[in-house]
Amino acid sequence: MDFSLSDEQERYREAIREVCAKFPDSYWRAIDAEKRYPEEFVLALSDGGWLSVLIPTEYGGAGLGIVEACIVLEEINASGGNGAACHAQMYTMGALLRHGTESQKRRYLPEIAAGRLRLQSMAVTEPEAGSDTSRIATFAHKEGDGYVVNGQKVFTSRLQHSDLLLLLARTRRAEVARKTDGMSLFLIDLRQAGPAIEVRPIETMVNHETNALCITDLHLPADALVGDEGAGFRQVLDGLNAERILIASESIGDARWFVERSVKYARERVVFGQPIGANQGVQFPIARAFMHARAAALLRWQAAALFDAGKSCGAEANMAKLLASEAAWEAAEMAMTTYGGSGMAVETGIERKFREARLYLVAPVTNNLVTAYVAEHVLGLPRSYGTGGSA
Ligand SMILES: Cc1cc2nc3c(=O)[nH]c(=O)nc-3n(C[C@H](O)[C@H](O)[C@H](O)COP(=O)(O)OP(=O)(O)OC[C@H]3O[C@@H](n4cnc5c(N)ncnc54)[C@H](O)[C@@H]3O)c2cc1C
Repeated sequence: MDFSLSDEQERYREAIREVCAKFPDSYWRAIDAEKRYPEEFVLALSDGGWLSVLIPTEYGGAGLGIVEACIVLEEINASGGNGAACHAQMYTMGALLRHGTESQKRRYLPEIAAGRLRLQSMAVTEPEAGSDTSRIATFAHKEGDGYVVNGQKVFTSRLQHSDLLLLLARTRRAEVARKTDGMSLFLIDLRQAGPAIEVRPIETMVNHETNALCITDLHLPADALVGDEGAGFRQVLDGLNAERILIASESIGDARWFVERSVKYARERVVFGQPIGANQGVQFPIARAFMHARAAALLRWQAAALFDAGKSCGAEANMAKLLASEAAWEAAEMAMTTYGGSGMAVETGIERKFREARLYLVAPVTNNLVTAYVAEHVLGLPRSYGTGGSA
């Protein structure tokens, strides 16, 4: 058990580094200043097949595992980039792969794998339903063979740069045994949705295209349904371990970037006649951030290995997400301190990455909810949430 990557995996890492090298600090700085989507970067990744590593070969993908997907996202963030522009395609596609019909898979997956179609967007969160998904109110009622959807979503990311949207909606309001029953998953072709989906961008502290959606009488054909009607919540849950492991990888990449930049700066910046890195007050936080990121990476690799072996990995995936996002945030704070006033100067890139690293303490699931999961499902403590109110 030496946790080292195979030669082939090392080659993937090198190849991703080469792609990222074409998008230096100045590119990400400009994108951030203009609040623009990194279209060129996403195209370069698609062209290289890097966003379809998880799609099986029979549907035109590389048929690789989550370990390789982790390598891709970690290296993007470790190079100074931001995988959030495109990460969702990797795990959102999983719902289609696991629960879609053969005809849906044949229709969409090869196009996604070829980079001709983007499935970058997933709408779960609503104004009144964030951590508590059981409270979603967007409703898809049956009409003829198909469905008509009405409702609101918030924080639906990358919608304006996606062709397809995966949407979670209620298909039954009452008479459900559990609050999480009666929800269904739909794959929506945004190119045909027209004015039924009104999109209002939400400005955030990061350059991350995210939107509020107002959905009015959106007509969907019967084959927009993915998987079983009423089983949408469980189908979303099925994909969460992959999502946690991949997000952890981005955070680990962020932590590596902060540590690398800080080591360089602490060696070069001379104050009181010596490099600031000679002071324990400066070097210890760097070393500690490095160690915490390494520890989180080990748990992430364990989660990824279990996932690829088809074994249960909910505990490891959740813990890796929490530890990695915290390690990235610790590293972000450390870098801000190491750089002194220069950390706040846009040109160093520290403040941009600082803002970006903060997101993963909250999304796609807050670390409080991860902790509640571990307390209940791993340690057997009483359930601390979902006990108040009704569905
Ligand atoms: C930039 C960005 C992009 C996003 N992209 C998407 C997307 O593409 N698709 C999508 O569906 N969603 C997306 N989200 C939404 C994200 O998943 C939610 O913000 C997240 O799940 C938390 O929900 P909430 O914001 O409603 O917080 P709330 O659920 O309102 O929680 C608020 C605070 O209370 C705490 N809290 C709540 N209940 C408990 C409890 N029982 N115990 C302890 N603490 C508790 C939470 O931890 C949190 O700190 C995005 C969010 C952001 C910021």
